[in-house]
Amino acid sequence: MLTLDDLDVTGKRVLVRADLNVPLADGPDGTRVITDDGRIRASIPTLKSLADRGAKVVVAAHLGRPKGQPKPELSLAPVADRLGELLGTNVTLTNAPTGEDTKALVDAMEDGDVVLLENIRFDPREASKDAAERGALADELAAMVDMFVSDGFGVVHRKQASVTDVAERLPHAAGGLVLKEAQVFRKVLSDPDRPYVVVLGGAKVSDKLGVITNLLKNVDRLLIGGGMCYTFLAAKGYNVGNSLLEADQIGICEGLIATAQESGVELVLPVDIVVGREFSNDTEIKVVPADGIEDGWMGLDIGPESIELFTGKLADARTIVWNGPAGVFEMSNFAAGTKAVAQAMVDNTEAMTVVGGGDSAAAVRILGLDEAGFSHISTGGGASLEFLEGKELPGIAVLES
Ligand code: ADP
Ligand code: MG
Repeated sequence: MLTLDDLDVTGKRVLVRADLNVPLADGPDGTRVITDDGRIRASIPTLKSLADRGAKVVVAAHLGRPKGQPKPELSLAPVADRLGELLGTNVTLTNAPTGEDTKALVDAMEDGDVVLLENIRFDPREASKDAAERGALADELAAMVDMFVSDGFGVVHRKQASVTDVAERLPHAAGGLVLKEAQVFRKVLSDPDRPYVVVLGGAKVSDKLGVITNLLKNVDRLLIGGGMCYTFLAAKGYNVGNSLLEADQIGICEGLIATAQESGVELVLPVDIVVGREFSNDTEIKVVPADGIEDGWMGLDIGPESIELFTGKLADARTIVWNGPAGVFEMSNFAAGTKAVAQAMVDNTEAMTVVGGGDSAAAVRILGLDEAGFSHISTGGGASLEFLEGKELPGIAVLES
């Protein structure tokens, strides 16, 4: 895989696919405000390095799911502003991802300028299943620039025009972010220091079944919390009340518990649970044993004994991967489990510690942990999961050819 150092970018127009897909909320007077700029900040080093080396930097990125149509509320305008602040330069946003006006703007760029193309997913060809359609958009992108840098790790698991097709058409390299992400996940997959412990949580078991199956071949311990643990508790025959449950996955979870046992993987489930009457921070709450969830109650966080258990299992680890919050951390009464897992990772200074998953990475920041305390906070939720599943990622594979 070629890197930024392998490209002679001075005076060249360089298209960078970045992942700037940040969460937005409604601000004053109909504006949209960025609630977590982590992905923008993660993109800065590559963009800055290219601009400093005298490249004309053209950035392609998406925001949300506009489904192939221009949607004003999904304009990259707030992102362009934040990007400009962080880069300390003016970032011009184009009106459309490609087209005459966009091309004219790019042609007029000076060395070191940064232009952001409007939401690439406003163009239906970006995510088309049809290779010829994607190729037509990739041709338009390629015609505007001299080379391509892939730095949007959050999209490298997608076969999309600005991710894979454009790389086939131009001299290309991995940006610093994609390079680091790929190196970290390769290390974890192929040669983790042991004990290797994975903490899983989050909302849905079915999202992460592929990962669990693959992880059971490799990890020493698997700790399961969050909304997904209730399907495992149900598989053990426990009542889970109104907790998140995927009834159709219970059989699969039984199988995973058995596989873990056969392969000598320690599968650790919570032993106590913070339950509430309703999905609300103001609801009545109590702590019950994991096999004592009554009807009319729902599990919203792992309990204090589970926190002890989990942090103990993390203390001697040498590799820790965490994907998925241990509870509904967005509500302060159910954030303790997630915070404890994250803190245990920070406290273990001997281990390589990796956070994967968009909500988990957001939790680190929202709960006020020091990002520098982790070896790596991945910017790619889906991409990091597919990496851990052992799948080939098309946006990485194309850079290797
Ligand atoms: P990530 O983005 O890190 O991969 P997910 O998207 O799988 O994580 O899940 C994150 C969501 O899971 C969070 O919004 C969190 O509130 C929710 N969650 C965690 N525990 C529970 C629970 N016990 N019940 C319902 N939702 C939960
Ligand atoms: Mg998520």
